Amino acid sequence: DADIAMYRAKESGRTSMIFDRQMHQEIVEAINLEADLRAALERDELLLHYQPIVDVQSGRIEGFEALVRWDHPDRGLVPPVRFIPLAEETGLILPLGRYVISEACRQMRDWQLAMPEAANLSVSVNVSCRQFVKDGLVDHVAGVLAETGLAPACLKLEITESVLMHDAQHTAGELNRLKALGVKIAIDDFGTGYSSLSYLRQLPIDHLKIDRSFISGDDCNGESQEIVKSIIALARSLGLTVIAEGVEHQDQLDKLRFADCDKAQGFMFSRPVDKDAALNLLREAVNGGCGCGMQEQAK
Ligand code: C2E
Ligand code: MG
Ligand code: MG
Ligand code: MG
Repeated sequence: DADIAMYRAKESGRTSMIFDRQMHQEIVEAINLEADLRAALERDELLLHYQPIVDVQSGRIEGFEALVRWDHPDRGLVPPVRFIPLAEETGLILPLGRYVISEACRQMRDWQLAMPEAANLSVSVNVSCRQFVKDGLVDHVAGVLAETGLAPACLKLEITESVLMHDAQHTAGELNRLKALGVKIAIDDFGTGYSSLSYLRQLPIDHLKIDRSFISGDDCNGESQEIVKSIIALARSLGLTVIAEGVEHQDQLDKLRFADCDKAQGFMFSRPVDKDAALNLLREAVNGGCGCGMQEQAK
């Protein structure tokens, strides 16, 4: 028995040593990544990709969501899941977020000026909790709009329900100020949060983005379909526009069209692409099709 106990102690000692080493690795990795991210902001290694948002009935591109990428010298193109949480923890989300807002607005204004057909396109930008809490977000947005000349209604800020839950009163104030500027507000990943729905009536919200898990996620099923219908009905009664995220297949789009969903976004139309490819999507759309694999419906 003593031997067994000793053996167990050794074993657990060994596993905890392995565990420590792994934890150590992760901490070192996180520290490296943080230092890298700090430098990345200075070295201009961040860039935006753009994913079209399409009108479900007409098939036209209505706008793009700007999604940040990090072009790391060694790691290649790093997706946001790898560095946004870190940026939020370290406060780097503040300069990062400012960069994303100005770059997205500048880019959209460029496209609008370059193509008359793009004049009414909008750009959607994700905004983190921390940007709301601290950063003079509203003043920054107002400054960027003035500087770029982008019409306020062409900028949509995407926030998750967690932002609303964090400091509801402060956030409500900020949202009202954004609304007064003419900027649009979308609730991102709608249906995955835990907040009460009463905020939808109280806050100046324009759009609901139905979370991808209900459209093409691993557990999207008959129930998801019902949830999608309920969200659309809810949005209708509140006068909000609905955008379905993560549309990958024609049958998903067909269901959304049948359910009278307003807009859709997903790999079916296009993955997020760099600015040149996004411009090409717009050009293709102008030259006949809609540029998003929906030529059939658009006719
Ligand atoms: P999100 O705002 O919900 O963005 C949609 C994500 O779903 C994007 O991932 C997009 O590539 C992905 N997606 C779009 N269509 C499909 C589809 O049909 N199938 C599948 N499987 N995925 C699809 P991405 O670009 O990796 O961004 C992930 C998340 O990172 C975003 O989720 C957003 O929460 C965050 N994020 C991205 N850019 C920014 C940013 O500039 N600032 C902040 N604060 N967060 C950002
Ligand atoms: Mg989003
Ligand atoms: Mg989303
Ligand atoms: Mg998300």
